[in-house]
Amino acid sequence: MKRVLIIDTGGTISQVMREIGTLVPGEADIVTLVPRLKEIADIDYVLIDRVDSTDMTQNIRVKIVEEIEKNHNDYHGFVITHGTDTMADTACALNYMVQNLGKPIVLTGAQLPIFAPGPDGLNNLYYSVKTATEDIGEVVICFGDRILRGNRSNKYNVEGFNAFDSPREPYIGNLGVNIRLNENRIKRFKISNPIFFKTMCSGIVVHYQVSGGCCDTLKYYIDNPEIKGVIIVGFGTGNVQSYLLNSIEKLTQSGKKVVIVTACSKGSTKLGQYQTGLRVKNAGALEAKDLTIQATIQKMMYALGRDPENFQDLFYQPIGRDMD
Ligand code: ASP
Repeated sequence: MKRVLIIDTGGTISQVMREIGTLVPGEADIVTLVPRLKEIADIDYVLIDRVDSTDMTQNIRVKIVEEIEKNHNDYHGFVITHGTDTMADTACALNYMVQNLGKPIVLTGAQLPIFAPGPDGLNNLYYSVKTATEDIGEVVICFGDRILRGNRSNKYNVEGFNAFDSPREPYIGNLGVNIRLNENRIKRFKISNPIFFKTMCSGIVVHYQVSGGCCDTLKYYIDNPEIKGVIIVGFGTGNVQSYLLNSIEKLTQSGKKVVIVTACSKGSTKLGQYQTGLRVKNAGALEAKDLTIQATIQKMMYALGRDPENFQDLFYQPIGRDMD
């Protein structure tokens, strides 16, 4: 029988309703609530935390990585239960923190607590364990009736049972009477040399441009030693407002990495296309091309944590088909 390790980090799936109508972390043993999991695989379960994923930290992510590292030869796949709010961020982080595993790392969770009437978590957990036994060799999100590439996904729906989408990548698979896997997936492969990387750099900020605004908040980052990298959410192909240019130049001159990502959920930055993009490139900023915002954050953390001197090479090296 195949073996699957479930790594629990919390999220709505195991939360309980307080009388006042607020969800809080619960004590649930979610695995025992889905007894049919045993028909799919031999299951082991490890509880790492019961955190609302709003408070997900790199420390908790490192604990996930340590569990996978310790056990990677012994299981066919891994399922991580996680809150939906930052599930896509953790999927991206794991794509960089665990490379060349050749097995599925499946993230799942729920829109409703598993004790609520009609909970989606029962199905999500069941199909995630099934997905973890399949011919997949990458980090995926399994949620609703979709299997999505983790590093291309984002939470786009706060209510629907299909909470995630991956606008830049067709689904890796669809769940129905059967699991249908698509050819764009990375297939399972024999473990060559898995890399487990645990020193992500947390000193990243994201600047969202305010159209019609005038406050240059970037200037506060220039002399802040905590901040190593700044992501600016560019309009369209990566266009950035004039009043930010002076600070961007100072940021890059002071050795901080500045990356422009597109605000659009499809397509790529093209900093040469408009003068409003070219001038930010000339100020020393890089572009995230077609990385999602979540992938850009985690890839910066990875590249800065790994080797800031080689930041550019590491940032542009595709990992887990995160970029075209
Ligand atoms: N706030 C919750 C979390 O991300 C939402 C969820 O799990 O759906 O942990």
